[in-house]
Amino acid sequence: EKNSRQVRAAARRRVCVPVLEHFDKFYSEQLRHRWPAVREILLHPQSWQYGVMLNRFAALEEVKEQLHIQGFSSLLPHCQGSLQCFVHRSPVRFPSQRHQAGQLKQYYLLNAASLLPVLALDVNKGDRVLDLCAAPGGKALAIFQCATPGGLHCNELDIHRHKWLMKTLESFIPQSLSDVVKVSNLDGRLFGKIEAGAYDKVLVDAPCSNDRSWLFLGQPQQGHLRLGERAKLPGLQKDLLRSALEAVVPGGLVVYSTCTLSHAENSDVIQDILSSCPNVELEDLDDLALSLAHHFTFDANTRFGLLVVPDHGRTWGPMFVSKLKKIR
Ligand code: SAM
Repeated sequence: EKNSRQVRAAARRRVCVPVLEHFDKFYSEQLRHRWPAVREILLHPQSWQYGVMLNRFAALEEVKEQLHIQGFSSLLPHCQGSLQCFVHRSPVRFPSQRHQAGQLKQYYLLNAASLLPVLALDVNKGDRVLDLCAAPGGKALAIFQCATPGGLHCNELDIHRHKWLMKTLESFIPQSLSDVVKVSNLDGRLFGKIEAGAYDKVLVDAPCSNDRSWLFLGQPQQGHLRLGERAKLPGLQKDLLRSALEAVVPGGLVVYSTCTLSHAENSDVIQDILSSCPNVELEDLDDLALSLAHHFTFDANTRFGLLVVPDHGRTWGPMFVSKLKKIR
C-alpha cells in the first residue's frame, strides 16, 4: 500500500513509473534492506551531492577559498598525484562554469563516485591510456589530473557526444598538451583488432542502464523502450571489455565501470569474462575501498568489484568498478 502510494507520488514528479516499478522488482531483491534508502535518494535529485574536481591547469586560489568558505572538504585522504576533488556533507551545489574562449575552466562538477574507476586505473606519467567510451569526458579529465600520460586516446561512438567530448577536453586541457590527447569516433569493439597490444591501461566506462537518469525519462513509452533494450546491454559490455583486453599489452590493466546497480551489467559481466578468458585475472580493490570508506557506502554482496550505493548523507553512486589484469 505504502509502495503504491509512493509510485503515485513519484508519477506527479514526472518520475518514469515503468522504470520505478522495474527497479522496485529487481533492486529490492538484489539490495534487500538497502533498497528503500537507495530508492528514496534516487527519487529526490534535490538531495544529491556534487563533487567539485579541480583543474590543475587553471588558476585555483579563488575557487579553493570559496570551497573552504562554503564548508567543502577534500575527498581524497592522500595526494592522488594532483587530483583534487572537494565534497560537501549537504547537497550544496557549486555553480557550473560557462565556456569562455581562451580560458580554461577551473573545475568540473561530478558524482564523486565517478572518480573510483580512475583511481583504480592508477595512471602514471608516461602510461599509454585508452578511454574506450569517453563522452562527455569527466573521467578523461580526472585521468589528466592524476598524471600526464604518455598518450590518452579518448574514443566515443555517438557523434553528438563525441562533439561534447571534444568541447570538454578543449575547456580543461591546455593547448600545449594537445599532442598527448587523441580523440576518435569509433565503435569501441574495434579496438581489440585495430590497436591490439597498443596500451598499458584501458578504461571501459561502459554504456549501461543509467539508474539516475532513467528514473526521470518522463514519458512511460520512453521507459518501456529503454527497459526493452536493457537485456542487450550485458552483451555489448562484454564485447567492449574483450576488445579492451585485446588492446592492452600483456601485464596491462583494464578497469570496467558502470553507473547502474544491476548485477547483470556488473558482477555477472566480470564473472563471464573471467570464466571465458584464461589470460585474465581479477585485481584486488580492497585498499581503495578502505581509503574511501568514510565517504562511500559499498554494497557488501557485490562480487568481482566494488559497488557504491547511494546512502543518506553520502548520496554518491551508483557506481560499479572492477579491475582486471591481462597476465599474458
Ligand atoms: N566516461 C564518460 C565520462 O566519464 O564522462 C561517460 C561514458 S558513458 C557511461 C558511456 C558512453 O559510451 C556513452 O557516451 C555512449 O555513447 C558510449 N558508447 C556506447 N556504445 C559504444 C561503443 N560501441 N563504442 C564506444 N562508445 C560507446
